[in-house]
Amino acid sequence: MATLLYTHPACIDHNPGLYHPESPHRLKAVMGALERKDFASLDRREAPRADLAWIERVHDAFYAKQVLDAVPDAGQVHLDADTALSPASGEASLRASGAACAAVDAVVGGDGKTAFCAVRPPGHHAEPARAMGFCLFNSVAIAALHARVIHGLKRIAVVDFDVHHGNGTQAAFWSDPELFYASSHQWPAYPGSGMESERGVADNIVNVRLRPGSGSKEFRHAYRDTILPALGRFKPELLIVSAGFDAHARDPLAQLEVATEDYGWLTGELLNIANAHCKGRLVSSLEGGYDLEALAESAALHVRTLMEG
Ligand SMILES: [Zn+2]
Repeated sequence: MATLLYTHPACIDHNPGLYHPESPHRLKAVMGALERKDFASLDRREAPRADLAWIERVHDAFYAKQVLDAVPDAGQVHLDADTALSPASGEASLRASGAACAAVDAVVGGDGKTAFCAVRPPGHHAEPARAMGFCLFNSVAIAALHARVIHGLKRIAVVDFDVHHGNGTQAAFWSDPELFYASSHQWPAYPGSGMESERGVADNIVNVRLRPGSGSKEFRHAYRDTILPALGRFKPELLIVSAGFDAHARDPLAQLEVATEDYGWLTGELLNIANAHCKGRLVSSLEGGYDLEALAESAALHVRTLMEG
């Protein structure tokens, strides 16, 4: 079965402002890399718009309305110091969440085995009632609850290898023993959460902090020794990945030294767990990554590994 690729032009049009690191060029770079001929067999699909009802499985209704009502006719509107809306942002955020939900529909329905959502804005910092860290709606959490409500899946896991802790996903999953969230992230760094002592109601949250300067060895060690065994014990029926590539050595927003090849290795390890526990069902959604070349080559290796899995 093919690997699916979901995206939408609105996700490029979302523009948080000149000189903002979460720029439209990020997604252009990723999509450029995925145009190469070795990606010709990707099953390319337009991301649908998420219904508000899907968003509201994770976010408070007043918050979702507040975000969409704040979308400006021109220029930018700031929701916090680093999270801004432009005219395309409402559409982009609905398409980003819609991509993850459609990807869940496809892999659970047997229409594809794995899927990558090439979308922005990212989502893992968005809390149930708060926009944060370039994120508006938490696409991976929304997709997890979509899998539960629409498809009846019980145990759903999110693994987040973005260099920043996904505080929003952790908050959404904290009180639910059948939702699992694991993150590797630099610490200290934005947003400041993600201590190992943050474990959720049923040890369903797993955090591994990495010191600035940590590289391939520490990154792989975090997964091999802690995150992958915990994920295996959880036995997910669906694996969702928050795929941020800002732990890369060349990323300007953080100080880890992860290599492009590490993303290929980790993707393979995650596929092994998906194959062992959930019929290979893996849905990945783009989060951060701010060096355009490092982002493009890392995302391309991630997708190529999914295609081989
Ligand atoms: Zn990040």
